[in-house]
Amino acid sequence: MSEDKRKSEMVKEQDDGKEQGNGKVKESRRDFLKKMGVAAAATVAAPAITSTTAEAVSLGETFQTHFELMSDAQKEKAIARLEKRYTEQFGKQTTVANTPAPDGVLFGYALNIAKCIGCRRCVEACVKENNQSRDPAIQWIRVLRMERGNDTFELENLHKGSPDSNSLGDYGIQSGGHADKHVGLSGAAEHYYEPEQVPEDNAIYFPVQCHQCEDPPCVKACPVRATFRDPNGIVVIDYNWCIGCRMCQLACPYWARRFNWGEPELPNEDMNPKTHYLGNRPRMRGVMEKCTFCLQRVREGRYPACVEACPVGARKFGNLLDPESEVRKVLATKKVFRFKEAFNTDPKFFYYMD
Ligand code: SF4
Ligand code: SF4
Repeated sequence: MSEDKRKSEMVKEQDDGKEQGNGKVKESRRDFLKKMGVAAAATVAAPAITSTTAEAVSLGETFQTHFELMSDAQKEKAIARLEKRYTEQFGKQTTVANTPAPDGVLFGYALNIAKCIGCRRCVEACVKENNQSRDPAIQWIRVLRMERGNDTFELENLHKGSPDSNSLGDYGIQSGGHADKHVGLSGAAEHYYEPEQVPEDNAIYFPVQCHQCEDPPCVKACPVRATFRDPNGIVVIDYNWCIGCRMCQLACPYWARRFNWGEPELPNEDMNPKTHYLGNRPRMRGVMEKCTFCLQRVREGRYPACVEACPVGARKFGNLLDPESEVRKVLATKKVFRFKEAFNTDPKFFYYMD
């Protein structure tokens, strides 16, 4: 294709993005970014243009508008384009669903902290289901391993001590609410551990992932609205719209967001070809991703992969608006707490004990 023809197609693609069905989008994305003063960030990240995979990414995809603002016809076109590209790229027939959020549903999650044995089958199932990069490895769920009886959390210690200049050499930088313990002992947790067998006698396990906040700071932080709360309360990301500025990652108190620094590596044989536009479709370098409660599954009435994989039934999932749902029964009958409640993000992820 001649350079002139390429340019004119590019302009056309951008123009396509100007006049959307609902009339809300009146300008191209580039203009918008310029006005927002984030054009530089976009240029730095520019994943779809500069990455290797990007050679296979059409201009249409690069310059398409925000998924939520597209007309149905534009969505269909974008989805057909992606299905074609993924099918060619991974050598298997790939579908990209756009299943809408079901009515009358607010998804919630409950995790029995006393039952978790730290096997990390949830992590494996999540990686597999959601097409996460194998190298560099990206994992949406973290199972924190903590020493049982770690006295860091005892009230007496939390209130004791203050930084002492004579002892900073021993104690390093204060990382908790107290300076009388070594750095690392303050809520010390291992994220990657290789036990011979689980559960270990001296350990407790604390899985974390996106807590699907009702009042999500990540959404407020995103300068281009690439991340947003869906009607079922799940916080999602439009990967094509994300400019990779990482503001959301900074804002999230749960370390839930993962950034693609490198070109994600997803072997053809491992790729799950049943994908959703807002869920597990393959990502590209320079964009953010995170848990979506397996949106591609739950919008079809299935459980998230981690819930199915947990061998001890520590994970429960359901509709918070339905008093008969598993998750509501947990809330009604168990001892329940939410992590970092003080941040007032109102998570829909609950921990409980029998
Ligand atoms: S989703 Fe996160 S990384 Fe992407 S544009 Fe929004 S704030 Fe930036
Ligand atoms: S846990 Fe983090 S990524 Fe998830 S909704 Fe809350 S702030 Fe956003």
